[in-house]
Amino acid sequence: MSDLPESERSRLSAFGEPRVSRVLASHPDPDGTLKLEIGLFDGQSVECVMLTDYEGRKTACLSTQVGCPMACAFCKTGTLGFSRNLSRAEIVEQLYHLKTQGQQASNVVFMGMGEPLLNLEELRAAIAVIHHPDGLNISLRKITISTCGLCKGIRDLADSGPLVRLAVSLTTADPELRRRLMPVAASNPLPELKKALLYYQEKTQDRITLEAAIMGNANSRPEDVKAMVDFCRGLKAQVNLIPWNPVPELPFSEPKRGQIEDFERALTDAGLTVTRRMRRGRGVSGACGQLGSVKPRSGEPAPEEDD
Ligand code: SF4
Repeated sequence: MSDLPESERSRLSAFGEPRVSRVLASHPDPDGTLKLEIGLFDGQSVECVMLTDYEGRKTACLSTQVGCPMACAFCKTGTLGFSRNLSRAEIVEQLYHLKTQGQQASNVVFMGMGEPLLNLEELRAAIAVIHHPDGLNISLRKITISTCGLCKGIRDLADSGPLVRLAVSLTTADPELRRRLMPVAASNPLPELKKALLYYQEKTQDRITLEAAIMGNANSRPEDVKAMVDFCRGLKAQVNLIPWNPVPELPFSEPKRGQIEDFERALTDAGLTVTRRMRRGRGVSGACGQLGSVKPRSGEPAPEEDD
C-alpha cells in the first residue's frame, strides 16, 4: 500500500500479514454448475462449486482442507494427500468469491475438498459467520457437514455444535468392503459409527443423510442392500445415491444403465427412504468426488485422529 506513509505501513504490518485468497480460474459448466479454483496466500489452491437445482436453488459446496488425508479409494481429492487445513477466513471467502461471480448461495454443504470434522475449530468459526445475521444469514438447517464417518468428530459436533445437518459418506455398510474403499473404517467401525449417529440424532431429532457413491463394479450387490438396510434400522436416515463420477486414474466404473434404479428399488422395497443425486458439474470435473484437478504444493503429515 504505497499510498500510505511509511509509519502507517509499518504500524499495519505489525498487525500481521494479509492472507487473502483470490479466484484463479472460473469453470462454468453448461448444466449451470460453476466451479472456482481459489488461490491461497501460500500458493496452494482449493476448489469450490455452486450447484443450481431444477428449482433454481443454489447450493455452495465448499472445501475445508487443501487435499485430504482420508484417502477414500473412489475420490479424486483422496489421491492428492493432505497439505493443510483451511483457515476460517479461507472457508468463508469461498462463498464471497462465488458471490462476486453472481452466485449467491441459499444452502451450503461442506462436501468439497477435505474432511470437515478434522478442521472443526476453523469450521465452527466459519459457520458462525455464515449463519450470523450480519454475515451471510444462512440458517443452520440449510448448512450440511458431510463426513466420511469420524465418530469422535460427530460426537464433538453433537456436544458443542453447531447442530447443522449431518451427512455421512457411507458408501456401503458391508464392513469388509467399506474397509477396502475407505481407510477411515479401520478405526471407525460401523457399529461405532451407528452409535455416534444415534447420539447426534438424539440431539437434533433430525434426519441424517447417508451418501453412497455407486460404482458399477463395487457396491451395489445384493449384500450391499442387505447391509444398508441393517445399518439403517433404528436410524432416522435418508439414503442418497450418487452415480459415481469418473476419475480416470481410479479403478472403478460408472454404474451401468438401470443399476442405480435397481439398487434404489431394492432399498425402497425394504422400507428405506432413498433419493438420487442430480448429475451436475461433470463437464468441469466439479461433480462429487472429482475435485482436485490442481495438486496441493507439498505434503505435510496428516492430522492425527485420536479416536
Ligand atoms: S470422499 Fe471426502 S473424506 Fe474421502 S478422500 Fe474424498 S474428500 Fe476426503
